[in-house]
Order: sequence, then structure tokens, then C-alpha cells
Amino acid sequence: MAKIIDGRAVSANVKAEVAREAQALKAQGVAPGLAVVIVGDDPASRVYVNNKKKACELVGFLSEEYAMPASTTQAELMELVHKLNQDKKINGILVQLPLPKHLDEKAVIEAIDPVKDVDAFHASNVGKIMIGDYHFLPCTPAGVMELLKSENIEINGKECVVIGRSNIVGKPMAMLLLHQNGTVTICHSRTQNLKETCSRADILVAAVGIPKFVKADMVKEGAVVIDVGMDRDENGKLCGDVDFAQVEPKASYITPVPGGVGPMTIAMLMKNTLMAAKIQNGLT
Ligand code: NAP
Repeated sequence: MAKIIDGRAVSANVKAEVAREAQALKAQGVAPGLAVVIVGDDPASRVYVNNKKKACELVGFLSEEYAMPASTTQAELMELVHKLNQDKKINGILVQLPLPKHLDEKAVIEAIDPVKDVDAFHASNVGKIMIGDYHFLPCTPAGVMELLKSENIEINGKECVVIGRSNIVGKPMAMLLLHQNGTVTICHSRTQNLKETCSRADILVAAVGIPKFVKADMVKEGAVVIDVGMDRDENGKLCGDVDFAQVEPKASYITPVPGGVGPMTIAMLMKNTLMAAKIQNGLT
């Protein structure tokens, strides 16, 4: 039977630490501020944005929301980003993705000042992660690393398999495991022998976006299984990329969905915003 890694508890600890540090910064006259930009009325994006606002309140950050209609033009959005880049109260800028189809996401991300890019999606921050010299880490993979750390799970020399190669999860996830001396394999939709490859993993991270994709026969006895997925099952219920009921008895550690990786993403966003405030005030 696996130990279930409690993402809510770890996330609460991270946020409490951020709140303590934010308090100390305030004593030095620095109040961290996050701007969240949402374009259109995607209900899932609305929930994420509300949660980010709540987290800011909890840790004592200033938060500003910019809700723009779905008809917003590229020029209008770019103008807002440029304005926020100049705004001294704002240390972190987060543009909630996905943007409506007519907008160029890449251009918007590249317009964000890299020192305010608390999602760590800007090419400059991605490059820094690649060379292992970074201030910001993308929130979801950073959250996974924090969960592994919370259980003192050894990565050094371990076989790590990441399923998924997206820019926001799979690729940076693999890089962070590599920085901790894991032997990392990245799998994707063209991977041959997926089952055999996954079965070798001491640490298996699933970021596929297919409900209950990882079955027991893909998991080594005693593996650590991290489920990044946020999917809906056949009844519309939130579930992960891992078939929890099948896999849990074989794993040594496993993250549940909900309550695993999900709560970590926002906690790491708060950590990045704190770091951004420190950098911009010469406190690092
Ligand atoms: P994505 O951009 O759709 O990437 C999915 C990856 O899975 C792709 O690299 C794809 O391969 C691979 N894949 C698809 N089918 C596969 C198959 N049959 N076998 C092996 N690999 C396959 O998704 P994402 O943005 O990385 O998100 C992944 C999951 O994490 C989603 O459920 C998402 O909701 C969740 N998520 C959660 C959080 C959180 O805060 N917890 C944050 C972000 C994402 P190709 O590249 O070859 O197409």
C-alpha cells in the first residue's frame, strides 16, 4: 500500500512560509504584488484566477485582476502587459492561459518582462532553467519537486520517467529531475514500448491529460507515482492521469487527484511572486 502524498498539507506549509517572508518584506517597505490577466469567460480559467486571488490574500500580497472581454485585440492585450511591466506595485504578471484563439499567446508571453514572469514561461526563463541558473521555476513542476522533497524521496541516480513533453509541464519537469541527478526518460505519444519504459521507473510522473491512462502494468513495484493530470472521468468527476485504484497498491508513494499536485501549483506561484519582489528590490 502506498503512502499518499498530501498536496494540500504541503501547499499550506509553502504558503505559510511565503506569508512569513512577505511579512518580513513589508517591514522593509516591500509589498509583493501580482497582476492576473484573464481574457474571455472560460469557466475553468475563472476558477483558477479566483483561486490565485484568494492565495494572494492569504499570504498578504497585493493582487490586481484585469478581466478583459473575449473580443480583446492583440494590441490591447500587449498594451496592458507593457503597462504592467512598468508598474512598480506589480512584481509578478500572470496571463491566464489558454487565451482566445485569435490571440498570439507566444507573443504575449514574450512581452512580459522576464523578472515579472512568475509562470516562468518566457524564453529567457526557460533558457535559465535549462542551464540550471534560475530564479523562477514553472509552478507545476516546481510543485512536484516540493512534494518529493516533503517526503525526502531520493532522486539522485534514480530512474525517472516523465510521460508528456509539454513546455509547461513535461519538459521542465524532466529538466528539474535531471538537475537532481535523476536518469530521466521523456515519453510522448510517439514513444514505442511505453509500458516497458514506464515499468523501469523508480519515479514516474504522468502529465498526459488522459483520464486514468497509467495502469498497474506500467508501474514497477514500489515506484513513486506522481499524477499531474487534471481530467474528467466518464461521469464528469475530476480524476488524474493515473488509475489510482489499480496503481496505489503497487506504489510506495502516490499523489491523489484532487489534493496532490493541483494545490502545489498556486503555492509555487506565490513563492515565485515573493522571489520576483525580492529581485526587483535588490534583496536577493
Ligand atoms: P499537453 O500539452 O496536452 O501535453 C500532453 C502530453 O502527453 C504530450 O506531450 C503528448 O505527446 C503526451 N501524450 C498524449 N497522449 C499520449 C499517449 N497515448 N502516450 C504517451 N504520451 C501521450 O498537456 P499538459 O498541459 O502538459 O497537461 C497534462 C495534464 O496535466 C493535463 O491533465 C492537465 O490538465 C494537467 N495539468 C495540471 C496542472 C496542475 O496544476 N495540477 C497544471 C498543468 C497541467 P505529444 O507531445 O507527442 O503530443
